[in-house]
Amino acid sequence: MNTSDLLARSLQAVWHPCTQMKSHETLPLLPISRGQGTWLFDEAGKPYLDAVSSWWVNLFGHAHPRINAALREQLETLEHVMLAGFTHAPVVELSERLSALTGQRLGHCFYASDGASAVEIALKMSQHYWRNLGQPQKNRYLHLAGSYHGETVGALSVTDVAIFRTAYAPLVRDNDVLPSPDARQAEAGETAPAYARRCAAALEAHLAKHHAEIAALIVEPLVQCAAGMAMYDAEYLRQARAICDRYQVHLICDEIAVGCGRTGTFFAVEQAGIWPDFLCLSKGISGGYLPLSLVMTTDTVYQAFYADEISKAFLHSHSYTGNPLACRAALATLDIFRDDEVIQANHQRAAQLTALTQILGLQSHPKVRNFRQQGMIWAFDVMTEHPEFARRAFAQALQQGLLLRPIGNTVYFMPPYILDEAAMQLLVSGTLQMLEATLKELGDQGA
Ligand SMILES: *Cc1c(COP(=O)(O)O)cnc(C)c1O
Repeated sequence: MNTSDLLARSLQAVWHPCTQMKSHETLPLLPISRGQGTWLFDEAGKPYLDAVSSWWVNLFGHAHPRINAALREQLETLEHVMLAGFTHAPVVELSERLSALTGQRLGHCFYASDGASAVEIALKMSQHYWRNLGQPQKNRYLHLAGSYHGETVGALSVTDVAIFRTAYAPLVRDNDVLPSPDARQAEAGETAPAYARRCAAALEAHLAKHHAEIAALIVEPLVQCAAGMAMYDAEYLRQARAICDRYQVHLICDEIAVGCGRTGTFFAVEQAGIWPDFLCLSKGISGGYLPLSLVMTTDTVYQAFYADEISKAFLHSHSYTGNPLACRAALATLDIFRDDEVIQANHQRAAQLTALTQILGLQSHPKVRNFRQQGMIWAFDVMTEHPEFARRAFAQALQQGLLLRPIGNTVYFMPPYILDEAAMQLLVSGTLQMLEATLKELGDQGA
């Protein structure tokens, strides 16, 4: 297939995700033929720095030799077997190693394939737990303003992003939305922890009234990524944990985007010194290789389902639950974390990239506001109201050999954990050039 053939046939036969297909009349698709490390290569051989880790999933670059080798070996032994009534070494080892990372507090892992399904599982498990305890009226959920938990119908019921939700309103149950501790919304002179406490007080006030009908609060710890990398103080999580305990409400932590080292610790909740009742993982857990998601929960939750009656059991399932290849990729990913001391190395890497953004003048750029960083996530807001900014910036970044995908007027970096100094230079200088070109194109430069 030559390139123009590939593009035409893709537009005809493939309905691409999160895309108004008509926009491809002016913005061409990018045909990728291979990946290596932080780089993706198009059909013509042009390299692109994958600064968003291919939608936040890739941790150690493309075609990683150790993950490749682990997958080849697994492929020769067992590609898949159903997980009801059967088991296999990769799923057992993965569950044990993840639970060890929580100090055995979250000692039971339930598997699915995508992030939204993990959220569905956590929501269903929480409600079913209360039902098994004789409290079926506890069946509502609380979520935060700007929250994103996936796009299946249940996950949308705790997602507060209008463009994903509005068209499906008749299908989606309305749950109550609480103020987000997004530090940008603090008042002048108010610190991020103080603002977090103010938001926690709103949670407490809500639960004082409604706890009898609420199963769980669901949050994205430390960073609400899809909202445009809204970062908040860990104090909110500490307070939320205590308040949920006080009112007998579960805390679900959706670490699909922020887990696996992304925020500077393996689990983001470690920075608050708390553990949730349910923790959802996906995206990076397989190193960005294969669809895999899971929900980790406590022995208390597990025991509430352990009974003679089948109706008390959690009967949820997906065809590829616990797929051995995906679990093996995850085990290889955890090996890399351990052997390469990745969390430690990332602290250095993050400081280096942050310093570059200062040295090269990105932080002080006249159109840049709210420059922020948490672990291996960097974001800033661009002073523009132009509705086309994200799309034009994406296209301009490609010209610079950068894969960036701004959210509204927020530009962010979420690179793989292998970025070297040359790639950092290119990322920051390319971003500056992208900004100049985009603002010029939009006629915003002097505005
Ligand atoms: C991506 C994401 C999801 C959904 O995961 P999918 O695999 O896309 O279904 C849920 N929650 C958060 C926080 C995410 O970033």
